[in-house]
Amino acid sequence: MLIDGRVDVKPDNSLMHRVNARAEQQVELCYHCHKCTAGCPVAQEMRFGPDQVLLLVQLNQQDRLLSSRDIWLCAGCEACATRCPNEIDIARVMDALRQVALAEGVRPADTSSVKFHRLFLFLVEHLGRMNEAGLLGAHKLWTGNLLADLGSGAVMVAKGKIPLVPHVLRDRAGMRRLFSRSLHPAAADSGAEEPGP
Ligand code: SF4
Ligand code: SF4
Repeated sequence: MLIDGRVDVKPDNSLMHRVNARAEQQVELCYHCHKCTAGCPVAQEMRFGPDQVLLLVQLNQQDRLLSSRDIWLCAGCEACATRCPNEIDIARVMDALRQVALAEGVRPADTSSVKFHRLFLFLVEHLGRMNEAGLLGAHKLWTGNLLADLGSGAVMVAKGKIPLVPHVLRDRAGMRRLFSRSLHPAAADSGAEEPGP
């Protein structure tokens, strides 16, 4: 639009623009060939599935998408990215959608997955590595779901599949700086401490 002889360029605040910027992807390239969904191991559990998630991003359907379980169910396995003819990395898109949902305080459909996600990032940020025992224990306490899978968990601990003592990265401060730059750019600029999960 021309105002006083100048072009009035409004910032693009669409969901697709914000997701593309965070994920460094071009969601508009998706032409819905369905190859990603055909290979996704959790598509059966999703309401929309990967290619429909991208369609909702293209259509700016923010409320429907950010409150759905789909964005929290993605396991980040990258099977979709290897099949996509347009090289769209949907795992990164899903991660960007989670970040937008958390930043905008959207009430999630699946609070258990959100808690898992936040604890996972918190542990990696502060230990430098994943600690499965810490993650599962903290998740059980936070969700109140103390008894689920207790038997199989004990078997895995007994077989040494879940180490109880965490392996800790030596340069943990470096890892925290990495997180600050990618997830909390404002805090990184000001040198503020990160919040807990
Ligand atoms: S494989 Fe790629 S182009 Fe095809 S539907 Fe999935 S994201 Fe879109
Ligand atoms: S990365 Fe996510 S959306 Fe893609 S195939 Fe794996 S679980 Fe499905």
